[in-house]
Amino acid sequence: MRIGLAGAGVLGRLLAWQLSRAGHAVTVFDPAPGPQAPPTGQLGAVQHAAGFTAAGMLSPVAELDNAGPDIARLGWRSLALWREVADTLRAEGCTTPLFAQHGSLMVAHSADLGAARRVLARLETAPTLSADLPPPRPLDRAALAELEPALAPGLHAWLLPGEAQVMPREMLAALAEHAHGVDWRWGCRVERVEPGALHIEGLGVLPFDLAVDVRGLGARTKPTPPRPNTVRPEPVEGLSHSGQEGLQQAQPERNALQATDLVSRVRGVRGEIIWLHAPGVNLQRPVRLLHPRHRVYIVPRPGNLFVVGASEIESEDRSPVSLRSAVELMAAAHSAVPELAEARIVHMEANLRPALPDNEPHTHTEPGLLRINGLFRHGWLLAPALVQDALVGTGLPPAPLRGFSPPVPEGGHSLGPGEARSSAVLVNSPH
Ligand SMILES: Cc1cc2nc3c(=O)[nH]c(=O)nc-3n(C[C@H](O)[C@H](O)[C@H](O)COP(=O)(O)OP(=O)(O)OC[C@H]3O[C@@H](n4cnc5c(N)ncnc54)[C@H](O)[C@@H]3O)c2cc1C
Repeated sequence: MRIGLAGAGVLGRLLAWQLSRAGHAVTVFDPAPGPQAPPTGQLGAVQHAAGFTAAGMLSPVAELDNAGPDIARLGWRSLALWREVADTLRAEGCTTPLFAQHGSLMVAHSADLGAARRVLARLETAPTLSADLPPPRPLDRAALAELEPALAPGLHAWLLPGEAQVMPREMLAALAEHAHGVDWRWGCRVERVEPGALHIEGLGVLPFDLAVDVRGLGARTKPTPPRPNTVRPEPVEGLSHSGQEGLQQAQPERNALQATDLVSRVRGVRGEIIWLHAPGVNLQRPVRLLHPRHRVYIVPRPGNLFVVGASEIESEDRSPVSLRSAVELMAAAHSAVPELAEARIVHMEANLRPALPDNEPHTHTEPGLLRINGLFRHGWLLAPALVQDALVGTGLPPAPLRGFSPPVPEGGHSLGPGEARSSAVLVNSPH
């Protein structure tokens, strides 16, 4: 099948890689100058895929604080899929660390315990948690010191077993590099996507058997009026087969909108992050600080790097990181990991998360057309499950991945420090 993809972000590259492995002829269009990650070491604003800016946290349980049970379920499925994607890429010769699964931690200072307990109560009463996902496991002082000695003594802590992280820049690069046979058209902006055709700026209309719109915020267009006297095939919309029912009940108004109209309402939600370089500071897993005012996490990356993020601001301002965000993020990170005091600030970045009015992802399929958008703050968390469902929905089941069985803790069994699954793609702890 000839498939034209608009957008080479998280969704676009994952789709291109999957579809090319399944033997399809894939062409990808993106205005970016090339596949490479944008340069670091700048303190300015950027205009590239949100996927490059992301921290790469895969936190379905912790995100229950911000999202519904469908998101958590999809995210839990995606964890296993990311692991298989990383294993497959490793088997295809990729040597860069792409994925790590050591669980994650939620921590709180004593003064903020009230706020932390409210978050935990929300998590513990979420229907998904008790049914499908392992609940947070409280850690005493000794257990925390053993697990993460760099954390401030006296912090209250909960381990979220099974949570994971991807290395966004490396994963995006690896997916593009290993998507063999894909025709990448960099520097090409897609103006419109319709069934069986992409409208490319300066090139005109190109026909495809399947046109795919995964442009994130770039998909925003003026709503097009319905075509009169045309019989449109019934669209299949929703999160997934399992999530569709709940979504339709919860948001009937969204189903009244045509896919193009809904996607035209995509908005950007500003997020800011800071990269720290701190040789000698060791963190094995992402740490999320529960705080009454800020949601701050610290994510260890290879090379003694730590990504501290992220603000969430209802604004499409792409200007550089503000002083207020920088101070709040860094103060919170320092309070949780005092050894970061001597870290060097090596990079700051602001970008926009593509979000729909209800902050839920949206998949639309009809003959000749697939659109996925609105991944908001969960793009990495949700992409593999959304892509899998979408490909099945379009009758294009993805090629099997060469992975191992998903490392889902059974019966709430927690991953202890010595129990982290071994894999060549696991990130080594920074030294
Ligand atoms: C600060 C920050 C932190 C985040 N942290 C996390 C996290 O820890 N975990 C998580 O799960 N998610 C996180 N996210 C969210 C995640 O990055 C997004 O949800 C995800 O990138 C959305 O994927 P996408 O493919 O839809 O869009 P994008 O990744 O934005 O990709 C869209 C692509 O479309 C291209 N494009 C745009 N316009 C056009 C056009 N006209 N024609 C062709 N191509 C076009 C763009 O160049 C881009 O390559 C974070 C986001 C931010 C900003």
